[in-house]
Amino acid sequence: VLRMESVRKTFGGTVVLRDVDLEVAPHTVTALIGASGSGKSTLLRCANLLEEIDDGAIWLDGEEITDPRADQDAVRRRIGVVFQAYNLFPHMTVLQNITLAPRHVHGVARAEAEEHARELLERLGLGAKAGEYPDRLSGGQQQRVAIVRALAVRPRLLLLDEITAALDPELVGEVLTVVRDLKGEGMTMVLATHEMGFAREVADQVCFLDGGVVLERGTAEQVFGEPRQERTRRFLRRVM
Ligand code: ATP
Ligand code: MG
Repeated sequence: VLRMESVRKTFGGTVVLRDVDLEVAPHTVTALIGASGSGKSTLLRCANLLEEIDDGAIWLDGEEITDPRADQDAVRRRIGVVFQAYNLFPHMTVLQNITLAPRHVHGVARAEAEEHARELLERLGLGAKAGEYPDRLSGGQQQRVAIVRALAVRPRLLLLDEITAALDPELVGEVLTVVRDLKGEGMTMVLATHEMGFAREVADQVCFLDGGVVLERGTAEQVFGEPRQERTRRFLRRVM
């Protein structure tokens, strides 16, 4: 679904991603782990073309999206993104938040967009919340609405950046359950996370980033069970 080759990203002379290769197969979950500042969010932002890369190339479904001729808006429409802060529009109801992009960016008719939104809300246990405003919801509910909003455009790929980081511990579980369910449905996802137990459980592929380099990658059992690099071992000892 997604392929990155030799991606390099700098911010004002500082190299933040160095020669990053990444291959995300359909219906798999890739977890990006690593210390704060190692480049996880930047990698996700590059994949969604929110950041321009300095070198290398990125493909989505075989199309080179970093080609200057690529239609960036069309690319972003195929990728769903959820960030740490849910960024729901406070003056819109849950239903309006979710149907905004399908209706106004994808040109889906209102009735159809609302029907799909209600179906997704139901699936994520938020069926009763369609008419609520975001500030009447808990953090976990708001984050689940943000996930519904990302799914509402029927993306090929979902990018999740620390989606539980802003939540109270007791609300983390309900959001992780949603990710687990989406995996069960075959959604392709790349997630940056500090939840190592969750990464180990849900990820097919784990990439350990260190100073903008994918220092180690493998299955969850490999990276968590028998890390090959001393730096990976040190990181895991520190966070687990
Ligand atoms: P965290 O776990 O804290 O979220 P991260 O792995 O997501 O960290 P990034 O946010 O990708 O790390 O940041 C990687 C590096 O790039 C950091 O050194 C950061 O300061 C730098 N950086 C990120 N965005 C910018 C920017 N817009 N301008 C300048 N430097 C940036
Ligand atoms: Mg980050």
